[in-house]
Amino acid sequence: MGIVENLQKVKSSLTENVKLIAVSKTKPNQAILEAYNAGQKAFGENKVQELTQKFESLPKDIEWHMIGHLQRNKVKYITPFVHLIHGVDSFSLLQEINKQAAKNNKIQKVLLQFHIAKEETKFGFDLEEAKSILNSTVFVELKNIEICGVMGMATFTNDQKLIESEFKLLNEIFDNLKADVFNHSSSFKEISMGMSGDYLIAIKCGSTMVRVGSTIFGSR
Ligand SMILES: *Cc1c(COP(=O)(O)O)cnc(C)c1O
Repeated sequence: MGIVENLQKVKSSLTENVKLIAVSKTKPNQAILEAYNAGQKAFGENKVQELTQKFESLPKDIEWHMIGHLQRNKVKYITPFVHLIHGVDSFSLLQEINKQAAKNNKIQKVLLQFHIAKEETKFGFDLEEAKSILNSTVFVELKNIEICGVMGMATFTNDQKLIESEFKLLNEIFDNLKADVFNHSSSFKEISMGMSGDYLIAIKCGSTMVRVGSTIFGSR
């Protein structure tokens, strides 16, 4: 099957309130254009250099999502154009994004990444850590970031029950922050969870954004 058929298939399995981020990392511009010409406008990348090159050479109305681990010294390269940064996992990264966003006269949308998987290797906050930052006076001074929600990755496993419990945990973290920290603000609304192998489970657990790569573009 081709990219366009794969894309339509994934789209038809999403519920109405779920946004599809087509993860195009390692794939050539031509593959992205195929999906773009079929109506897909949101793409996700996980490496700064690749993201920047693709931004420069592809249509300017593409909405770019940074979904990978982001180093502080590279924030400046993507802030001018990136739509949403999914993987914010430290206060110092938030500070740097705020600084670069201010330079670019923009409010940068970000998601806070939470560690929900059993695996040690995944990045992210835990709830208490995030709350203490969000309730601090230094956080209030960051005027050029907007925290739009949370992001997480489940354990890489075939155990559907484990994946489901991890996505449910992220949903609970979202609800907790929305009530306790964000005062039910309507701009705190996104739960970015679900990839090729688990996006249907993620949707069942309340995902609002799925990040799907290989099911659309083929294996990497
Ligand atoms: C690569 C990647 C995806 C997409 O993975 P697939 O299994 O190809 O769908 C989603 N999220 C993140 C953070 C990724 O790095």
